[in-house]
Amino acid sequence: MSKVLFMNMPAHGHINPTLGLVEELIGRGEEVTYLTGEEFREKIEKTGAKFKSFRFYLDDKDEDTDTSASEVPYEVKEAVKMLERVVKTCQSVFEVVFSGEEKYDYVIYDSMFIIGAEIGKALNVPTICSHTTLVNAFEAPSNPEGLECFMGEFEHVLNSIKEMEETYGIRFPDVISGYPVAEGMLNLVYTSRYFHPVVKGIDDSYKFIGISVADRKEKMAFPFEKIADKKVIYISLGTIFNDSIEFYESCFEAFKDMDVKVVMSIGNRIDIGAFKSIPDNFIVLPYVPQLEVLKQTDIFITHGGPNSVNEALYNNVPMILVPQYADQFAVAYRVEELGAGINIEKDKVNANLLKEAVTRVLSDKSFKVNSEKIGDSLKDAGGVSIGADEILEFVSSCCEE
Ligand code: UDP
Repeated sequence: MSKVLFMNMPAHGHINPTLGLVEELIGRGEEVTYLTGEEFREKIEKTGAKFKSFRFYLDDKDEDTDTSASEVPYEVKEAVKMLERVVKTCQSVFEVVFSGEEKYDYVIYDSMFIIGAEIGKALNVPTICSHTTLVNAFEAPSNPEGLECFMGEFEHVLNSIKEMEETYGIRFPDVISGYPVAEGMLNLVYTSRYFHPVVKGIDDSYKFIGISVADRKEKMAFPFEKIADKKVIYISLGTIFNDSIEFYESCFEAFKDMDVKVVMSIGNRIDIGAFKSIPDNFIVLPYVPQLEVLKQTDIFITHGGPNSVNEALYNNVPMILVPQYADQFAVAYRVEELGAGINIEKDKVNANLLKEAVTRVLSDKSFKVNSEKIGDSLKDAGGVSIGADEILEFVSSCCEE
């Protein structure tokens, strides 16, 4: 039995695909400590892992302090504040990881958990990276114009970084000029080789394990009987960039007169009361049991989040993709490229385009056939069982060296 430290971002999309893997590792006798945001305690503890939390400041603008002079451009001020939040978050992680007595035999961390590899190095243990999205799917963000003239604004944060580096013996990734994404000595990617586009940087340390659709043990009521007798359209923009009332209103307009049932998950950033009126054939909720809903779905209108897309493909569901942000564009592009869906640009989306796309996907069987083909490749990749095999083999090979 080995002791494992699993470090992750506090986000459904980063945590959900890891739950099955954690259960599998525990089933094989590993002792897993899972470190993420407090709001995920229940979900993690249900896997049998020991839970620890750190404070995630990245969403927390309330504690921002404006230290820049008034003539400093807004974008530079925001970049300074963002870096301050990153540093405070890392500080909170380090306090938990390095203060306890606990010793770990290896670490696993999400590819967005940018200090994971450095923590592994500091603990002198093997590192494994959990890639919930496509590798190299992020375009480097362009820095605010003229940033080099304002580097002085970052001085206090850079000093805090230096202090942290000295205290914990780590090297902080370059978050000002780059978009750091973590790698590990072993890299597990939750998709298939077939679905993943050919990109630079993938070597033999990358293992494509397909997806895990483990029971998340989320007990929530959902009126499945209401969607049993009609074609079902499921709509969700995921759990993060999901507050476009205009988008949801376009969906109402597009499908209100169609002979379909529509399930719409709107997240918890907007209030259902904000809609003028909800058509009778819609079920609108802040969060739905997506894995179960997808089993009864004919078309999924999605933001192209890597997990939502994986889960749809696993259930052979064709898609209409309206990517909102970051890696969602690369994921959506790949779905369209392999013929399992149609993309619509978020700024162009309207009721007519949505209706046309749904009609096309429903009448052209090839979308479903192609979705099934990718779905088969995801199932054939082996899932959490292969993932756990890869981890255990890799860790034991490290011990032999
Ligand atoms: N999800 C869910 N119910 C909802 C909305 C989302 O279960 O009503 C889950 C979904 O199954 C997926 C995750 O939340 O596992 C969203 O991850 P994704 O990568 O698709 O998007 P993100 O939320 O990270 O943008």
